[in-house]
Amino acid sequence: MNFTRFPRRHYIPAPTSIEPMPALSRALGKGVNLYIKRDDLLPGAAGGNKTRKLEFCLGDALAKGADTIITCGAVQSNHCRLTLSWSVKENLDCHLILEERVKGSYKKDGSGNHFLFELLGVKSLEVVEGGTDMKAAMEKKAASLAALGKKPYIIPGGASNAVGAMGYAACAEETMGQLNALHLNMDCIIVPSGSAGTHAGMAVGMKGVNAGIPVRGVNVSRPKNIQEKIVYQLAMETAEKLGLKWGVAPEDIVCFDDYVGPGYSLPTPAMVEAVTLFARTEAVLLDPVYSGKAAAGLIDFVRKGHFKKGANLLFLHTGGSPALYAYMESFR
Ligand SMILES: *Cc1c(COP(=O)(O)O)cnc(C)c1O
Repeated sequence: MNFTRFPRRHYIPAPTSIEPMPALSRALGKGVNLYIKRDDLLPGAAGGNKTRKLEFCLGDALAKGADTIITCGAVQSNHCRLTLSWSVKENLDCHLILEERVKGSYKKDGSGNHFLFELLGVKSLEVVEGGTDMKAAMEKKAASLAALGKKPYIIPGGASNAVGAMGYAACAEETMGQLNALHLNMDCIIVPSGSAGTHAGMAVGMKGVNAGIPVRGVNVSRPKNIQEKIVYQLAMETAEKLGLKWGVAPEDIVCFDDYVGPGYSLPTPAMVEAVTLFARTEAVLLDPVYSGKAAAGLIDFVRKGHFKKGANLLFLHTGGSPALYAYMESFR
């Protein structure tokens, strides 16, 4: 794959590490070898997966002469925190629109990412009701800023368009390079599947380097059939952008929705167990909304014997640990 044809900022000086998780593998007792790719340790304030997508999205914004970034997310959005973080570094104004999907969940003096939005000096922050048309809300904001002479650029929620998803196609290539260097094959890569750019990008990228390694998504909000359609659509758009003629096949995109629980961002006992187990075996901090639920899926797959003895599994840790501090009650 050739990424040099697209504007891109350079935020990631070195590949994120792939580490074995021997203590967790032993604790699960099924003879499966678990590995973790530490995208939680990517640069950008407090780390996490959106930095890979923002290399391309902010590259595009700067190439188009933007001086102002507008994006949106849920109230504890890591994407909003990282977009703000890189906007600070790029000397761009950043405006956030937060969707309060759970009524009363935004607290201006709240912990986790709420605190970091303020600390990083967000230019404006608007909280709107759950179910609001976020695209329309961002366009309205862009029009009002343009009327003041600003040059706004809108990044969609999660930076999950084909521009952003290229960041994860690039991550797939990085990952395969590392696995080749280690001479270590994987039987499966497990990723959280939310706004879909991570899952779609990884699926396209793994196909693009002809890895032959299945990528499986663990949903954090939507039902399986709906999420698979969204990921497939975005994967096809990303493949087309990259000129990958064969694209992805519908059967390359597989999601599991058994770990969402009562809904997006709502704690589940399996998430609490997964976050606690990762902390106590590997000293890895997951998050309650994404990586904790994806890890709950990984743990359940292993316990149920989905993978044969000796299988190698790679868990993509997408970050999000600042949100833990907004969920401490769930762990007490
Ligand atoms: C956004 C996010 C995800 C999900 O990635 P998508 O590309 O939106 O599917 C997973 N983990 C964390 C910590 C995130 O912030």
